[in-house]
Amino acid sequence: MSAYDRPAIDAKTFRPRTQLVHGGVARSGFGETSEALFLTQGFVYNSAEQAAGRFTGEDEGFQYSRFGNPTVAMFEERMALLEGAEAARATATGMAAVTTALMGQVKAGDHVVASRALFGSCLYIVQDLLPRFGVESTLVDGHDLAQWKAALRPNTKTAFLESPTNPNLSVLDIAAIADIVHGVGATLVVDNVFATPLMQKPLELGADCVVYSATKHIDGQGRCLGGVILGSKAFIETHIQVYIRQTGPSLSPFNAWVLLKGLETLPLRIAQQQDSAQKLADFLASEAKIARVFYPGRPDHPQYELARRQMKGGSTMVALEIKGGQAAAFRFANALEVIKISNNLGDAKSLITHPSTTTHQRLTEEARLDVGVTQGMLRLSVGLEDADDLIDDLKRGLAAV
Ligand SMILES: *Cc1c(COP(=O)(O)O)cnc(C)c1O
Repeated sequence: MSAYDRPAIDAKTFRPRTQLVHGGVARSGFGETSEALFLTQGFVYNSAEQAAGRFTGEDEGFQYSRFGNPTVAMFEERMALLEGAEAARATATGMAAVTTALMGQVKAGDHVVASRALFGSCLYIVQDLLPRFGVESTLVDGHDLAQWKAALRPNTKTAFLESPTNPNLSVLDIAAIADIVHGVGATLVVDNVFATPLMQKPLELGADCVVYSATKHIDGQGRCLGGVILGSKAFIETHIQVYIRQTGPSLSPFNAWVLLKGLETLPLRIAQQQDSAQKLADFLASEAKIARVFYPGRPDHPQYELARRQMKGGSTMVALEIKGGQAAAFRFANALEVIKISNNLGDAKSLITHPSTTTHQRLTEEARLDVGVTQGMLRLSVGLEDADDLIDDLKRGLAAV
């Protein structure tokens, strides 16, 4: 330590907003203010002995960016602080995180249970991909605790759910489901994208693993893809670390750097987007051309009490059902000027999508109705624009219906 070095304060003692600005920072010898971007594939060693030591683990340090990189490690550390997790591993996309979290735990002959209301690609992993490798899967109505109980088998290794669900923001009881699956020694993995790490803490509710598409609110400005897997040190070391090291769904250091900057402003963006989402949901609910609004922060939401218990705040997303089916939904979306038509979400720009013809197109009409996706449903991701401009835009949409 030189005379000018300052002892570091443990970031665990900081409040979340401070952690999101300072957590995980590993400054280089240049003392840069902003997180350094280590755009490097590999690392050089001082000696052959040191190289050997890195590979046995006796010498701490980086070897190759597929296994670890300083910028990626800063992002992982900051995410772990925010989530209150012992360990985190970043991945190239949200789907790489989901695939790794599930594939990393199972082998042929195992069984997986999942809630039916999943993001389209997650449904593919559970329903199509896992069975190709001899892992059977059962889909349940996530609200029905009896179905979770009935689906469990002695060989059930893990359970998977998303809450609030895409697209209709239905809320599942994470604590109750964790209890049930732990009864047969299985783990629970929660896709927490719609809640964001600020509104819901699945690990505190009993989940064993949390996954994010960092592409969404964590970047928050529509720039790059990313994902992250969080859990106990034992969970990550047993199921995730080696899988990522050997199969390579690793996050690019450049994307990790963008995501680190995203985390700095996450609380400000989420607070603003959630505030606007509540206003938009309340506005839409008062309109005669709207059959239904789905928003966890409104007392007319079917799981309002559960949402209040389990989540801080409503959501940055609103789902709505327009009277008049697909034709009315298309007329509404096409008349919008500020809100853009896009299947993405969590962006600074407000985005709207018609799930039944986009994200849920692959499903049969029956399967869509099973998860509440009707022809008149639209999913709105609320951005950072002025809420009054967004309400004016919704009025333009309604006038066209
Ligand atoms: C977007 C999304 C994913 C997939 O993330 P990518 O970064 O696009 O791979 C998984 N789950 C949910 C709930 C999502 O919204």
